[in-house]
Amino acid sequence: MKKRKIKKSPIILLILPIIIAITIFFIFNKDPKETPKTDQTIKQETDPIIQKLKTEKYYIESNLDRYLAYSKNNPDLTNEKIIMDVNSNLDKTKYEDIEKTNIKDDNLMLVNKYYYLTEDYEPSDLVTLTSKYNSGVNSKMRKEAADHFMEMSDAATLDNITIKNASGYRSYAYQVNLYDKYAQRDGKKAADTYSARPGFSEHQTGLVSDINQIDNSFENTDAFKWLQKNAYKYGFILRFPKDKEDITGYQYEPWHYRYVGTKVAKQMHDENLTLEEYYAYYIQNK
Ligand SMILES: [Zn+2]
Repeated sequence: MKKRKIKKSPIILLILPIIIAITIFFIFNKDPKETPKTDQTIKQETDPIIQKLKTEKYYIESNLDRYLAYSKNNPDLTNEKIIMDVNSNLDKTKYEDIEKTNIKDDNLMLVNKYYYLTEDYEPSDLVTLTSKYNSGVNSKMRKEAADHFMEMSDAATLDNITIKNASGYRSYAYQVNLYDKYAQRDGKKAADTYSARPGFSEHQTGLVSDINQIDNSFENTDAFKWLQKNAYKYGFILRFPKDKEDITGYQYEPWHYRYVGTKVAKQMHDENLTLEEYYAYYIQNK
């Protein structure tokens, strides 16, 4: 009895790995031929709707199912619009389908109604703008953004244009008060169209400046015209343009500028992209 037991064990030890190896071999060899993935690939190669979507400049492969679902629900939209809307998460629910902002994206971090900063996020390199460059209560910006802002303001001064920060970095707590004030006055629904909920305000990044006057008449000033022509050269973009309100989720704000760095600002300017559109294609899709 004792002898037999000792004899059996090594045989099992030998056979078991062989059985496992054969099983793994079959799993890996069988699967690709029979899973629906191959059917999907064939469908993708022949479906004219998919082929047309794929020719769009900002097409992202991993978004394909979302493009198809979105175009089904919005049959009148062009392919270009379908791509941009889905890339900007318009098929998701604002303030509900949310995720944490990737702060490692640094100057390019995206904060909007789908991406939020936590209550404790405060940039470590905030600097305070002097009265030469600032006119408001929230006079802080992150160092690199502030340096470029001052450079931009100095350049404008040479053209007899005054550019001052009216509102820069705003803490989470500050936004709590601001949003509550608006929501009480106009109701949450109305407040959501022009004010960010706490954590969802780009001002918390320290990369933003509301310039000169925070109202729509700013559009008629020489300062605005100067910024239209020159802001991108200093790394700033008009964050909520008039014709892209659905993409950004915000009403047009001629005064709100966002620092993204000079290289990216130029590219966004040249390709007429919002940060939502740029981020999806060039950052997330990398
Ligand atoms: Zn603003």
